[in-house]
Amino acid sequence: MSCDTVAVIGGGPGGLRAAHAIAEVGGQAVLIEQRDFLGGAPIAENYAGITPHGEPARPQIERMVDLVTAHPAVQVRLGSGVTAVSGEPGAFTLTVRGPDGDQPVDCGAVIVATGFTHFDPGRETQMYGYYEFPDVIALQDLEAMLSAHEVVRPSNGQPPQRVCFIQCVGSRDRLIGNEYCSKVCCGVASKEAIEIRQMLPNSKVYIFYIDMRMYGYWENEIYWPAQEKHHVQYVKGMITEVLAKGDRLLVRGEDTTMGRPMELEMDLVVLSVGMEPSPGTRAVAKLLGVKQNKFGFIDAAGGPLDPVATSREGVFACGAALGPADLEDTVSSAAGAAIKAVSFLRSRAAAVTG
Ligand SMILES: Cc1cc2nc3c(=O)[nH]c(=O)nc-3n(C[C@H](O)[C@H](O)[C@H](O)COP(=O)(O)OP(=O)(O)OC[C@H]3O[C@@H](n4cnc5c(N)ncnc54)[C@H](O)[C@@H]3O)c2cc1C
Ligand code: SF4
Repeated sequence: MSCDTVAVIGGGPGGLRAAHAIAEVGGQAVLIEQRDFLGGAPIAENYAGITPHGEPARPQIERMVDLVTAHPAVQVRLGSGVTAVSGEPGAFTLTVRGPDGDQPVDCGAVIVATGFTHFDPGRETQMYGYYEFPDVIALQDLEAMLSAHEVVRPSNGQPPQRVCFIQCVGSRDRLIGNEYCSKVCCGVASKEAIEIRQMLPNSKVYIFYIDMRMYGYWENEIYWPAQEKHHVQYVKGMITEVLAKGDRLLVRGEDTTMGRPMELEMDLVVLSVGMEPSPGTRAVAKLLGVKQNKFGFIDAAGGPLDPVATSREGVFACGAALGPADLEDTVSSAAGAAIKAVSFLRSRAAAVTG
């Protein structure tokens, strides 16, 4: 017996967009989120402004949440996860463990929207001292400070005068095994650099990069204004270590344009950590029996022209569960996955009745 409900696992921007799109085209969705709130990384990590224009993240994501929670065709299960899957494409049964214990959820198709996790900068990149020096932080730590309108050195609570970003931490790194580019960190670091310059106009802000990857419109929307309007200093170079020097940090490396060693003192160092598959993405992929790529993201089995199909019929994926993605990529793939899932169910229903 086939079922006309789509289960969406993960209630971040991807899962929210997928669930709402299913409802918009007349389908039924069950949205399963492990946390006790919806919104994914932008809410959990307290993002400040979002690219490219820096509008506050929370109200924008809350609008997505409201659309989903107000829709009668979407059932939301918070604090819940999937522990078992049985059945077949068109008629799956998921065991969903939530606050009321284990409950079966019948669905014809599944969308995996379990997202990403930040690269842990203590893992194999200890030379930057993330766990050693309180004034070495990561992109998401700075997002939380920016949203609280309080950018300070954690060591002394004072606003920093000199801040730098180190790009590609945990990405584009063969030794670590993450050869891929995390796609969003050049734009996010530049956006955060602009926000610091606006909040602390006397500060000096540097971005140390291998090469800046601002794809599409982010080049003129973020990169050029960061330099020309906000005077962020971009330095092409490799940072090899961060050391303590008095009550400041010494950032040491090579300026690759000038071909000479460099040492600069900083008050705050921000590591532009990359994206890795979330533990949920790895676990749900295994549970559903869908193929993962060598990095643990879900393999887009349909290739570039069908990017939301997985190796298992009736199971689709979207957003950062498929690999590094910004919000625009995420909601686009989520809408695509919703349409694919609903049309999969409708074509099966038509085959049965017709
Ligand atoms: C520091 C930083 C700043 C960023 N800023 C921007 C920006 O300004 N603009 C932009 O376009 N992009 C930005 N991004 C990228 C943006 O965060 C992602 O594009 C977006 O969060 C991806 O959405 P998602 O729904 O795919 O994944 P996520 O946001 O990771 O959401 C996944 C959801 O699934 C849930 N989940 C995971 N496992 C399970 C499970 N087993 N069962 C149930 N639920 C589960 C999680 O709890 C979470 O709610 C930023 C990224 C970083 C790292
Ligand atoms: S987006 Fe930029 S910082 Fe992030 S991995 Fe790619 S090149 Fe490095």
